[in-house]
Formats: sequence, structure tokens, C-alpha cells
Amino acid sequence: MKNLLSGMRLQKDNPTFLIAQYNALSSQIPILYILLVINALAVAITHIHTAPIWLALYIPVALSVVCVFRIAWWQIHGKEQVTAEYAYNVMRRTIVLAAVLTFAFGGWAVALYQYGNAYQQGQIAYFLVVAGISCVFCLMHLPLAAILTTAITFSFMVVTFMFSGKSVFVATATSVIFLSFPFVRVINSYFQNFAGLVRLTEELGDKQAEAERLNLINSRNALQDQLTGLPNRRSFFRELQDMLLQYPDRPPIIGLVDLDGFKPVNDVFGHAAGDLVLKQTAERFLTIMGGKGTVARLGGDEFGIIFPRDMAEVVVAEIGQAFCSALREPYEIPGGSIRISGSCGIVVPEGQGHTAEQLYEKADFALYQVKSRRNGSVEFFSHHLEEILRQRHLIELELQGDDFARELSLEYQPIIDLGDGRVVGFEALARWNSARLGRISPDAFIPAAERTAMIGKMTRILFAEALTALAQMPAPLRLSFNLSARDICDHETSMTLLAMIHGAGIDPRRIEFEITETALLSDFNTAYEVIGLLRATGITIALDDFGTGFSSLSHIHRLEFDKIKIDKSFVMQFDRDVRCMNITRSVANLCRNLGIVSVAEGVESEAIADALLASGVRLAQGYHFSRPLRLENAIAFARESEIATQQPLAASA
Ligand code: C2E
Ligand code: CA
Ligand code: CA
Repeated sequence: MKNLLSGMRLQKDNPTFLIAQYNALSSQIPILYILLVINALAVAITHIHTAPIWLALYIPVALSVVCVFRIAWWQIHGKEQVTAEYAYNVMRRTIVLAAVLTFAFGGWAVALYQYGNAYQQGQIAYFLVVAGISCVFCLMHLPLAAILTTAITFSFMVVTFMFSGKSVFVATATSVIFLSFPFVRVINSYFQNFAGLVRLTEELGDKQAEAERLNLINSRNALQDQLTGLPNRRSFFRELQDMLLQYPDRPPIIGLVDLDGFKPVNDVFGHAAGDLVLKQTAERFLTIMGGKGTVARLGGDEFGIIFPRDMAEVVVAEIGQAFCSALREPYEIPGGSIRISGSCGIVVPEGQGHTAEQLYEKADFALYQVKSRRNGSVEFFSHHLEEILRQRHLIELELQGDDFARELSLEYQPIIDLGDGRVVGFEALARWNSARLGRISPDAFIPAAERTAMIGKMTRILFAEALTALAQMPAPLRLSFNLSARDICDHETSMTLLAMIHGAGIDPRRIEFEITETALLSDFNTAYEVIGLLRATGITIALDDFGTGFSSLSHIHRLEFDKIKIDKSFVMQFDRDVRCMNITRSVANLCRNLGIVSVAEGVESEAIADALLASGVRLAQGYHFSRPLRLENAIAFARESEIATQQPLAASA
């Protein structure tokens, strides 16, 4: 009962429910009116000759006209999207109108009652019951209207028939009274079900809306860089692919921008400062592009640009320069301002049939070239670069062929003690004599092996050869072996190398691994662990190419290198370039002060060898002493140098 009472009230605070009620009513109410009109006209026709014309005809026709208007109104407005407030007002009016019309129809029927015979009176009774039942079923979604109209029709009937004095009508009236209780129950339970259904639909709708919202966020996250708000790598490639599909004849110009000096910002000033730099960079790039084209963050400190298709190449070049200039502007971070720089690689695609990956690779290659010049400028992918890239692909392909392992070999370059001219060991240098491509420089095939993840396999093949060679070299002689960045950041490779040394029965103290600083940059912690592990067995570690990379004192300090190899680019210019001489001397001093042995590579003349010795450099290698040699020649070279210095070597191991 409580439920019914609360259901009778229009729920003004529940807009969804009001609208649901309105929509349900809009399809039911016209049916109710049609039933009423048909029934009323049926009654009118049978009374046309027995009752006054105004009562028998005019009144029902007038009421029917009202009903027809209401049918038309509901037909027109019932299908419209309405607001809750509108629905509320219409339903309030409907309740009033329902009561008024029921009253009018009921009064009219009762007024006719006295004019008819027993059959006609029976028809009136039928009319009132049908009207009541129609109201119950058609107004169930508006319980107040349903109850009001049923109550009015049934009241007319009960009052008229109870006092008619005719037992049939009295019995009918009595049964109607009892009929009204289950009707109220039916109205109530139907309405509760309806309310439950609306609630359920609403909850489902909410859940669906939530799911859609999360979906939207997910798909936005999947395509957007969270830090800068720019499109991310996936979005960049998707857009590029779409454009290539849409305009295969006119592919867009794309650019890649990479920041120089960003990593130190992160390391020194913290990630918050790094984030600020990236955000400000994104803003600067967007401003330069002026809302045209696409600026995306491809990851880390790399940005990708898709230039508008109608942009001329000169304008693209200017924009590339503008990016580089914008990067050189100071960045404001809490506690000061910092400066970085950056380079830009651009590809202007020619012809058709490009894939997004190919364009990216070309722009990346141009970027790599310009980055290696370290002057923070723009480079276009040229025919010359295209040729280099083609060679690179050929090498990568050939590397993965079956012959590669057989075609690999090592040469050995003597390392000389400048003090007494004795050979102290050799550096093993990889050689690849490809049947198809000819002799390939290690500077070309080692990076290719790194890119194609062949490096681990290659290192193992070469190291096996190096161990066999070392076993043949006279005992105090040592062998230096170059490890790539990938090798040193990989526990598995290092464990394999140790197992190979153990298996070959070689004293680990005769082995030196040369690593470059770039190896430390990719994953310092792993490199640190691996180096510690190798050193613990007695293997020595040399820092190769010192002076060309970051030349970080912190690396030297933390990793306790046994040797530092001064890069040949300084040594070769030693007697011609004062700066090279100063750098070489500084490194030699640094090594002396830290108790680290220094090795000069690329010694091409006696004068340089003498000057290096005078500067405090102990060990050296270079064409002046010997080019890299085949194993037999290397061993012979060592013996000859022993004879020359007259200090006999131990017998062959
Ligand atoms: P690197 O380790 O700095 O090796 C020294 C390079 O300088 C060698 O070039 C050597 O032939 C060359 N060189 C030696 N003395 C002189 C000289 O007096 N003048 C001039 N102009 N050059 C001299 P190479 O053999 O072409 O090797 C190039 C690079 O390839 C090596 O540089 C090293 O980084 C890498 N590499 C060589 N073998 C291996 C290897 O087995 N594994 C790995 N991971 N890298 C290797
Ligand atoms: Ca080396
Ligand atoms: Ca070197």
C-alpha cells in the first residue's frame, strides 16, 4: 500500500523515470481514447430514439471530439524527445483531464440510465465496467490517473445500480466493489514492476555509459602521449599509414627530431625537470607548426612530424631549422634554466609504394647522420644516404645467411710496451670476408649484427676462435677482445663467455675485454653487474675509444677499469693538432693519477710513439708497429720482437 501511495505521486526528482512514464503513456493513452469513443458511440446509437437528442448524441459527440483531439495530440507529441519537466507537466495535466473526462463520460452514462429499458441499462452497466477496466490497463503507468478514473467510473456505477432496486444490478454493483480490490493490486504490482524495469534500464544505461567512457579514455590513452598530450608513436604510424593509403601518389614529408643532452637533464635535475623540458618542447613545436600537420612524441626524447602535404620542401627545411633553434632556447625549470639542443632528420618521399616503416627508417637514418655531426641541425635523406642504407640492408640480409659463421675470422694487432718495445699482447679484430659482398669492415657489420640481434651469436663464434688463438700464443701474451654494448648488458652472453674460458682451460688473467661507454649508457646496472662478475674471475676490462663518447669520470670511478684506451682520432693527430695532443696528455695524466694503465691506439709514426712515451703513456698499438695480422704472423711478430729485445718467451702454451 505504501508503495502504491508513493507511486501515485509524480517523482519530480527522478527525471529518467518521468520520461519513461511519459513514453509508456504516449502509446497507451490513444488506445484508451479509442476504446472510450467506440463504446460511448455504441451507447449513443442505442439511445438515440429513447433519450433527448442533446443527451443521446450531442454530449457523446462533443466528448468524442475532445477525445479525438487528445488522440491527435498524443500522436503528434507522444513520439517526441521530451525533457523531464515537460513530461511532468503533461502528466499532471493528464491526471486532471482524465478525472474530468471520466467524470463527464460517467455522468453522461448515468444520465442516460433513466431513459432506457432493461437491455439499455445493461449496456450502460457494461459501458461503465469496460471504461473502468480500460482505464486500469491503459493508465497503469500513471497510477494516480488509473485509480482516479477507475474509482470515478465504479462509483457512478455502484451508486446508480445499488439503489436501482433491481437485484441483477445490485449484484453487479456489489461484484464491482469487490472487483476494485484486485484491480488496485494489479495496478500496484504492475507499476512496481515497471518502476523496477526503469531502474534496471537506467542502471544498465549508466554501466554502459561508464563502459563507453572508459573505452574512450582507453582509446585516447592508446593514441595519446600522457605527458605532452601529443599523439603517440602508435597514433603517428596509424596516421602515416592512413595517408599513404589515401594518397599513394603523394606521400607526406616526415621528420624526426631528437634532443641532444636530454639524458643528463634527467640525471642531474631529476625526472620532473626532464618532463618539463619535454612539455615545453612539445609546445614550442606546436607553435612552430601553427596548427598544421602533426607533431607526435614517439617515445623518450624523440618527436615525429608529419608535414602538411601541400607544404613546399623549402618551408619544411625552414621549419626543421626552426625546431633546432627552438631547442637551443633556454628551458625554465624550478631553480634555474637549462640548455639543450637537437637535430632533425627529414625524408621527402619520391615516387610511390612507400611504407610507414620505410619512411621512418629513412628519416631516422638522416637523423642519425646529422646527430653524429653533433651540430644540432637538419639533414634531408639523400640519394647518397639511400645508397648507404641499401648497403646496410644488404649486409643485414647477408649476416643472417648460412655462410656468415664460416666467413668470419679474427686478426690480431700487437699491443706494444713503449718502454721496451716488447709485445705484451694482441687485440683481436673481427674480419668478415663475404663471398657475395667481399670484405666488409667491422664498423659496418658489427652495428648490423647488433641491429639484427645476431651479435650474441657472432661474439660466441669469434670468442671461440680467440680462445683457440690464445692457447697457441706464448704464455705471458694476453688477448684483448671487443665486446659490444649488447654483450655487456646481457647476463646470458657473459655467462657463456666465462663457461667457454673455463672449457678451454685458459687462465682468465690472460684475457681482457674492451667495452665502449655506449655499452654503459643503455643499461648501466646490468653492465655494472656483468663487469663485476668478469673482473672477479681475473679478467681485466678496458674502456675503449675514450674521448669520443661521454668520457664520464663517474663511469671510470664506479667501474674501476683496468685500462683506458685513448681513441685513435686523438692519437693520429697527436703531432699535428694541439688540442689532440692536450687531450691525449690529459687522459694519460688522469690514468697515471688513478693508477689505471693507458693504451694509445692508432700510432702511425715513431715520432708519435716517442711523444706518447714522454707523455706517460705505457702501451700502444697502431700501424707504426703492425697492422692487424693473421694468427701465425701475429705469433711470429711476437717472437721477433722478443728476439729483438732479447728476452726469451716461455714455450708455447
Ligand atoms: P676498435 O676497437 O677501436 O679497433 C681499433 C680499430 O682501429 C681497428 O679497426 C684497427 O684495425 C684500427 N687501427 C689500428 N691501428 C690503426 C692505425 O694506426 N691507424 C688507423 N687508421 N687505424 C688503426 P677495425 O678492425 O676496422 O675495427 C673497427 C671497430 O670494429 C673496432 O674498433 C671495434 O669497435 C669493432 N670491432 C672489431 N672487432 C670486433 C669484435 O670482435 N667484436 C666487437 N664487438 N667489435 C669489434
Ligand atoms: Ca677495441
Ligand atoms: Ca678503440
